[in-house]
Amino acid sequence: MQNDIKQDLQFFNELINDLINDELANPIAKAIPTSELNSKFDLELKSSPAIAEDFKKELKKLVLSTPKSSSKLFFNQLFGGRHSKAILGDLLAVMLNNSMATYKIAGPQVAVEKEIIKQVNKLIGYPEGCGGTFPTGGSMANFMSLVMARDKKDVEIKNKGMQGKLLAYTSENSHYSLSKNTAFAGIGRDNIRYIKSNKVGQIDILDFKKQLENDIANGFVPFYLNATAGTTVLCAFDNLAELSPICKEHNIWLHVDGAFGGTVIFTDKYNHLVKGIELTDSFCFNAHKTLGAPLSTSVIVVKDNRDLYNSFNNDATYLYQTDDENYNLGQTSFECGRRNNALKFWTLWKAIGTNGIGKIVEHEFQLANTARNYVKDNEDYTLYSFDNSLSICFNYKDFDPEDLCTKLYQHNKLMIGFGYFLKQGFVRLVTINGENTNENILNFFKVLEGFVSQNTDIIKRT
Ligand SMILES: *Cc1c(COP(=O)(O)O)cnc(C)c1O
Repeated sequence: MQNDIKQDLQFFNELINDLINDELANPIAKAIPTSELNSKFDLELKSSPAIAEDFKKELKKLVLSTPKSSSKLFFNQLFGGRHSKAILGDLLAVMLNNSMATYKIAGPQVAVEKEIIKQVNKLIGYPEGCGGTFPTGGSMANFMSLVMARDKKDVEIKNKGMQGKLLAYTSENSHYSLSKNTAFAGIGRDNIRYIKSNKVGQIDILDFKKQLENDIANGFVPFYLNATAGTTVLCAFDNLAELSPICKEHNIWLHVDGAFGGTVIFTDKYNHLVKGIELTDSFCFNAHKTLGAPLSTSVIVVKDNRDLYNSFNNDATYLYQTDDENYNLGQTSFECGRRNNALKFWTLWKAIGTNGIGKIVEHEFQLANTARNYVKDNEDYTLYSFDNSLSICFNYKDFDPEDLCTKLYQHNKLMIGFGYFLKQGFVRLVTINGENTNENILNFFKVLEGFVSQNTDIIKRT
């Protein structure tokens, strides 16, 4: 088979047409038990080339058998749907295949990334001298913030390794990346303090203060607080305005993990959920979660760009040969060769404007209200989550949430997951697909109830 870009792109268009039609006809791909993968697909790589027709057939089967994260019945993760303007930008990024390391190789794409960083900083109110970059995801954004905080506390750590007793703080409901990140950064998993949350899933301020005083009295050095704007399960927003003065007083870097809910910055109606954000040191969000941009589209912004530079710059004469570090973005990124994840967000933002992005977020909150009201008004349901959130946590009758979600998946009805808060298990519905309508959300409940009524005997009870 030839290496022929025009021919393969034509095939790509055919495949994508098939996929989009199939998503409508079969919104849930058939669940495939892992034990059947080998018999269902011809994935084996061989020394001889595949026959062209077989190659096409196999590729189409693979595409149509993959879980359909953009369908109307996918609620399993914190992403879903696809905005065509973002897809357009990302496909172009693949074709252009620049690396964002230097101006010489990325040219005006550098200005695309810088413009997004500038506008995000303007929205949240960071002062002159701020900056940012596009990390590979929310986990990496959290990692970068931790490293900056560490280096700010002790500039010698990056040369000599860890010394002393640094402590990081976060909520007991924060994302699991924190634990891994402390290991990677040499802080150590045992040196995180998980602060208890209050009844609505936010960091308990008094508990945080008490823990700090205790740790300082015992000779520890607190250096970092990871607050969350939209916790992964409940979508709770920590109170930044109250946390910030405590962090200032103790010289603690305050990072806001907005991977899930951080896009509230785009709407005046909901940006009160991150009130005080201008007082923090760094902030990240994922446009691939609530905005329908493809994975991954992550942004981190920093109040003082020198911190980003100090932690991530390095000399490399084979790479940095023209222009200065303001345009050679590799001096403020983790990676060397870095994918252009900015262009898809730029095409989206440019096409629909800040107002259009705000409207997507507002629409998702409105879908959440629809779902929450449905649950509240129906005696067969119990609600466990709270207002001002994109996460609706509930149980249906006395069915076991884990078993219910798994059976819905195994019977190809719905892609939905379960979660826990204060040891209570529940089904977690997330309204993160801005393409959904109220009808799609109500249909979710209809599908769930229909499945249960026909399968009452096989679903476990609590
Ligand atoms: C999803 C999520 C992350 C991780 O983001 P990735 O892009 O998947 O690495 C971090 N924090 C929170 C609160 C999240 O919901």
